[in-house]
Amino acid sequence: MTKPRTVSKGVCELCQAIVARSAISRHVAKCLKMRPAAEPTVVTELLHVVAEADPYWLHIDVPMRAPLSELDGLLRNIWLECCYHLSAFTIGGTNYSRQPDTYYGDKPLSVAIGSVLRPGDRCRYRYDFGSTTELSIRVVGTRTGQSNDARLLARNVAPVVTCERCQNPAAFVETNRMVCICDACREKQEFSVEGGDVLPLVNSPRTGVCCYASNG
Ligand SMILES: [Zn+2]
Ligand SMILES: [Zn+2]
Ligand SMILES: [Zn+2]
Repeated sequence: MTKPRTVSKGVCELCQAIVARSAISRHVAKCLKMRPAAEPTVVTELLHVVAEADPYWLHIDVPMRAPLSELDGLLRNIWLECCYHLSAFTIGGTNYSRQPDTYYGDKPLSVAIGSVLRPGDRCRYRYDFGSTTELSIRVVGTRTGQSNDARLLARNVAPVVTCERCQNPAAFVETNRMVCICDACREKQEFSVEGGDVLPLVNSPRTGVCCYASNG
């Protein structure tokens, strides 16, 4: 698969504006201030985190007291879930996972995110220990907000991937060789190889991996 270049633009999930990647944090902060909650709710301390797997990226707000499983769940929903694989965060040499191996000092995902991550911190996240999708996560700041759940603030616009046969935008990916192809070329010729599947090309670092097809 020809790796798309880093996507320099993203969509604000609050107002749907297309914003330069370098300005997205500032835009989201302003956008949130202009949208007070409809009904008064409890004010929560939030961590603003960025999840990246070049060229894909997400900006997310997570309540500090929320467990790591909250962020794990959001990442699965938006980017990763195909068939309920295991996943883990690696923070400062410790693995936090759904099925922690205590022999190796692993910890559960029930720990509060604010107790293990601070602004400026980075950590690694892996989904599926077979065909692994690895993300880099960094905490870019804190803010107060009304949300009690992790929420998506912004994401990269879908990268343009060209069809290997005709150079039009591709719509599918063949999982064995990671060849990307457009709708028309797919209809014209048989292009899946033995043992491979043809999956829709989606805006996620898991596109073309395992049986990943959705893009929540
Ligand atoms: Zn906005
Ligand atoms: Zn899978
Ligand atoms: Zn084509």
